[in-house]
Amino acid sequence: MPYDDAEIRERLNWLIKIRWIGCLSVFSVTYLVRNIANLTFPLLPVNLILGYVVLYNSWFHFKLRTFSENLQKTVIEQILLDYITLSGAVYFTGGYDSPFLSYFVFHIGISGILLPGKWAFKAALIGVLMVGSVVGSMYLGILPRFSIFEDASIIHSNLFVMMAYGGIFASTLLFTAYFITYLAEHLHEKQKELKGIHVLTEKLRSSIYLEDVMSVLMDSIISLEGIARIKYFYLDKSRFSLVHWEEKDNRSKTTDEVVISLSGQNVFVHTFLSCVACVTDPPAADSIYEREIFSSLFQNAQKTVLLPVWSSFKKKCNEHFNCAYFDCPAFASEDVRCWTIPSTVCKGKKVTDLQEKLRDCIQCELFFPVGLLVCDISETPKRKKLFDLDALINILDAASLAISNARLYEMTLELSELDSLTGIKNRRSFFKALNAEYSRCKRYEKRFSLLMVDIDSFKHYNDLHGHQQGDVLLKTLTAALRTGLRETDCIGRYGGEEFIVFLPEIGENEAASIAERLRRTVAERDFPHAELQPGGAVTISIGVSRYPDHGETVDEIIKAADASLYVAKTSGKNRVVVAP
Ligand code: GH3
Ligand code: MG
Ligand code: MG
Repeated sequence: MPYDDAEIRERLNWLIKIRWIGCLSVFSVTYLVRNIANLTFPLLPVNLILGYVVLYNSWFHFKLRTFSENLQKTVIEQILLDYITLSGAVYFTGGYDSPFLSYFVFHIGISGILLPGKWAFKAALIGVLMVGSVVGSMYLGILPRFSIFEDASIIHSNLFVMMAYGGIFASTLLFTAYFITYLAEHLHEKQKELKGIHVLTEKLRSSIYLEDVMSVLMDSIISLEGIARIKYFYLDKSRFSLVHWEEKDNRSKTTDEVVISLSGQNVFVHTFLSCVACVTDPPAADSIYEREIFSSLFQNAQKTVLLPVWSSFKKKCNEHFNCAYFDCPAFASEDVRCWTIPSTVCKGKKVTDLQEKLRDCIQCELFFPVGLLVCDISETPKRKKLFDLDALINILDAASLAISNARLYEMTLELSELDSLTGIKNRRSFFKALNAEYSRCKRYEKRFSLLMVDIDSFKHYNDLHGHQQGDVLLKTLTAALRTGLRETDCIGRYGGEEFIVFLPEIGENEAASIAERLRRTVAERDFPHAELQPGGAVTISIGVSRYPDHGETVDEIIKAADASLYVAKTSGKNRVVVAP
């Protein structure tokens, strides 16, 4: 329904105003024309009809203001009465000579333009019925029998006038109704689309987390007409992996995240770029990973649309390709080898030229794809248009910036919380986690253990093999420590070659045995140049303390662990010492 009641009320108000003006004009014109042109039509019917129109108009005006229900019925009723009144007015006031004729034509034209399309259709239908009944009565000879005129030929000529204007009435209404309906629906759709994009951008703006942004995006795409399934792929460069979200068009919407780990960065980047930028045609599915990715792209699809999602792409397209939009959806069937790029890509440009240029731009990172959207298009038999590519592109345009921002935020968060060399928590974020754990334990009277780990004779290792080799050792040793801990344990880099670990819910004996296990793991591991270390192996010393046994505060617990570590170092290294 393209109009709401308020809008209709507004339009009807206009109709009434115009009729008041019309009434006044007919009234004055009637007297003027009669006197100036010496016409002889009777004045009584004119006055009676005008009086009726004035009364009816006032009543209708009142009804429109006070009644909120059933506007539609009121309108149809109004149009019907208009037609009868005006036909009568024309009939009794001289047919072709009638001063009501021009008002009649003017009035029906205005009604057609002011009325909502659907209602104008109905009113036109009534008009057609009216004309039909007049014609019917005429040919059956019913009307002349009730005539107040004696001359049947006058009656017939007047009836013809009524028919003619009835015809004009119906066709004007039908035409304007069609026109208005078309325009209103078109505008309504555009308005809905704009509203949708506005809501989407509002939602996207309200969150900086990738999870939220993606779920908003997926929701709004899947609700588009004709889209059955969507997948969004993006390249996680830091993890060398391809992340994908999937959503299907059913009642229970679920968003899965699947990480396809890849053996090497090159394979992966190549695959991703070739599907995003359509730089290979057909895409080369060389490795098992590529085949895996491509088969997941084209699963059971009747028709698939691939859309690269670019960050501020439109503008850059303009600069580099001299075209309004690099509109390159690639349609694909189930068979990957049928992949084609439609010839509509940048009208008037050769696809291969554009691919070359695009590849250059990607390589020098002028712009980088934010991701790849894969949509399966469902057949919707009711509509001719399968789905609206423009709407989809608009949504992606709005979302692309939000996605890249969210990913930048994630990266920034990682950088600010993790130690860049070892990938474990840095001192700041470790203490944040430790303080939270401490508060929890204090409140619920729980316990936790703390390990202070230090590599033995690390200076010796650095001096002998250089700092770069020292860094490699730090990395591999951290990885070994991490694998020896549980998910709930937390490890951080305390200082140069010192690490700190907290173990939630771990008691006295257990903490000592976990520390001992870590020590043994490191000592038995074959690190590079381990044989040149004192004792013939890379080893660690660990000091252990517990909350609440060794202190009331975080500082006291750390102090206790540090003291134990000192004891371990002074008593010969490569050992675990638990605070007394
Ligand atoms: P001890 O067994 O008593 O712990 O002796 P140590 O040599 O391990 O201890 P010391 O504190 O004397 O030396 C620590 C060395 O760790 C000094 C510093 O050069 C090195 N170091 C600290 N941070 C890093 C780092 O990020 N990379 C490398 N390669 N070395 C580091
Ligand atoms: Mg050391
Ligand atoms: Mg040290």
